[in-house]
Order: sequence, then structure tokens, then C-alpha cells
Amino acid sequence: SSLPPSLATLRFDAQTGLAPAIIQDAATGQVLMLGYLNAEAWAQTQREGRVTFFSRSKNRLWTKGESSGNYLSVVSLHIDCDADTVLIRAIPAGPTCHRGTVSCFEQADQVAVPSVPVGFLAELERLIQERKSFPERSPSSYTVSLFKKGMPKIAQKVGEEAVETVIDAVAGHRESLPGEIADLLYHLLVLMAAANLPMQEVIEVLRERHRLPNTRHLLGA
Ligand code: AMP
Ligand code: ZN
Ligand code: ZN
Ligand code: ZN
Repeated sequence: SSLPPSLATLRFDAQTGLAPAIIQDAATGQVLMLGYLNAEAWAQTQREGRVTFFSRSKNRLWTKGESSGNYLSVVSLHIDCDADTVLIRAIPAGPTCHRGTVSCFEQADQVAVPSVPVGFLAELERLIQERKSFPERSPSSYTVSLFKKGMPKIAQKVGEEAVETVIDAVAGHRESLPGEIADLLYHLLVLMAAANLPMQEVIEVLRERHRLPNTRHLLGA
């Protein structure tokens, strides 16, 4: 069958009673860690919406974050093609690795870049939201100063950066184009935050258009 296997069909290893679970940051796509589930851990994870593993070293159920507070809140659960592995998309409450790094696949001096590079936009969106909600934490921040100036000014900045991008693109200025587009994307994210519009809502519109056949004529000239 080409249907995704249902969550009930997860097959645990016959010898150990375990199945591996890959933990992925639901916002950025970054792989955070790998752990093992037994049937009880799997049931508890689904019931409580927090990731619980079976720890082979502790030889007991282990709710990730039970002592550090860095729980993994489940966003979605996925079983692979032959139903012997789980992918769990989750929101981490803090660094997932006990060494204090975001991901277990990350050295202190070497950030494990998410395989989906646009996932960084979600990280940036989160930071911009934090600047908006807690301006007093970052008094000298440029983002905070933009929010203070408010909407007409923010929209004007988006317009300026868009014009600069267009000028560089038309003139074939390949070297300055990434910087201009970066400015444009950043100011667009600030505008979205100022308008209380989560990026998710924009992505939903893109997805919807992607799903519908023959709608290119609706997208404008
Ligand atoms: P925590 O579940 O975050 O409260 O951590 C409790 C203990 O579990 C830590 O002291 C480590 O021994 C272990 N531990 C925590 N996170 C990880 C991880 N990502 N990978 C392996 N072991 C971990
Ligand atoms: Zn496959
Ligand atoms: Zn498999
Ligand atoms: Zn680790």
C-alpha cells in the first residue's frame, strides 16, 4: 500500500523490544537527537504529547527533560516506510543535548546546520517576535527601533529594500544581490510581525496554490 503506515503499526525490534526515534525541531528542521522507544514509551509519548524514551543506560522510561526541564513537545509523529522507525517533530524547551548544545549532532565550535536552509527563517521569525514582545531586553537593537517607529516606517523600509533588490537584479550586480535580498527578507519578516501575521499563514497560502492545478493565471502577470 502507498498509504502511510498508521501509528499503531510501529514494529519494535524482536530481540530488544525497541524502535529508534529521530527527533527533529518542528520549526527549523534541524535533527536534534536519536533515542529509543519501547511500547510503553511510545504509548506515553502519544498520550502526553511529550517525548518519553526507553533509556538503555538507565534501563527505564526516560522523559527527555525530566531533570533539565528541556522537554520535547510533540508536534507530529511519522512512521517510516517499513514501520520500524519513528520521526518525531517537536518543539524543544531548551538545548536538547545534555552538553548544552541545541543538537546532539553538533560540536561546541561547529553548528549543525539544518538540512532545510530556509528553516533559519523560522529561527529569525522567532527572534524578531522576541524583540517585539520584550523590547526592554534589547534596548540597542535595530529591530526594536523599527517596532518603535511603527508600521508606515517599516513598510517604507520593505519598499526601499525591494527597489534596491530590483535595481541590482536588473543591472546584473550578482555580488550585491544576496545582501539586498537578505535585507528585504529581514524587513519583510519585521513587517509580518508588526502586522501580527505568522509566516505559517503565508506558507499555507503557498501550499494551497501549489496544491491547485492550473492556477498560474491567478498569480498575476
Ligand atoms: P534530561 O532528560 O534533559 O533531564 O537529562 C537527564 C539526563 O539524561 C542527563 O543527565 C543525561 O545523562 C541524559 N541526557 C539528556 N539529554 C540527552 C541526550 N540528548 N542524549 C543523550 N543523553 C541525554
Ligand atoms: Zn522507503
Ligand atoms: Zn525502516
Ligand atoms: Zn547529546
